[in-house]
Amino acid sequence: MKNTIVKLRKKPIQTFLKRFVLKNFYLNKAEKKYQVPEVLYIEGTNLCNAKCVFCYYPVIADTIVKKHMTIDQFSNIVNQFVKMGGKKISITPTMSDPLADPLLPERIEFLKTSGIQMLSFYTNLISFKQKMREALNSLGDTLKVKINVSFTGFDQKSYNKFMGVDKFEFVKKNLEKLSESSRSNNSLTSSVTMRDYDDSGKSKTEFLQYLKSINMSSKVEYGFDTWGGCWKIISLNLSNCQLKKGLKELVHVEFHLPSH
Ligand code: SF4
Repeated sequence: MKNTIVKLRKKPIQTFLKRFVLKNFYLNKAEKKYQVPEVLYIEGTNLCNAKCVFCYYPVIADTIVKKHMTIDQFSNIVNQFVKMGGKKISITPTMSDPLADPLLPERIEFLKTSGIQMLSFYTNLISFKQKMREALNSLGDTLKVKINVSFTGFDQKSYNKFMGVDKFEFVKKNLEKLSESSRSNNSLTSSVTMRDYDDSGKSKTEFLQYLKSINMSSKVEYGFDTWGGCWKIISLNLSNCQLKKGLKELVHVEFHLPSH
């Protein structure tokens, strides 16, 4: 009986101590981990070269002043982030394409010796100029670059319909160049995200086979940004679209890795 009382008295104290120690342990761990943002997002340009029907960019493209962040501003931001302990940056913008930024090769050149270890971004790959390819081909081993190509419409007709520009074959050629660069460069990885908007059965299968043939990893996403629900309401005409960005409705994702 006496022993039981001692045990009962001890239990709350032990539980309290255990909780206190564990709480502090995890809090300290989380504090350390999240002291610095894991990834810093920087938008280097507000220029895009596509006119996707599911995006607000084509609606405002003619009304905005096109600007690129200067190298001085860019390096200043990156240096501050590195000083805080930051290691990864992303230049995926809200509305624009990172490869439409004429200063990107220079930014990469700067990043190589900045202390940043990883640069990642999404692109439509419409622009993939020689200067950019040279910058990627000479990355060295201090900076890793991860490029994800976003693709909507898996044959020429539906690509034109969704992306609003006649660049299907052109981007396919750029994909081959990117795949080649990635294969011969350990610091560069690339993949494709196929966004399936219209259940494009046959063309999707053919495009997946094509990606496999050029050794490009891919995933298929079934979902889209509704821009506040207006995408569904106005179908493929954005003229009445509100400025409100909606939630991303991601239904499911399929992964396809190339067989090496
Ligand atoms: S590529 Fe991106 S920013 Fe450009 S129009 Fe399409 S969705 Fe908008």
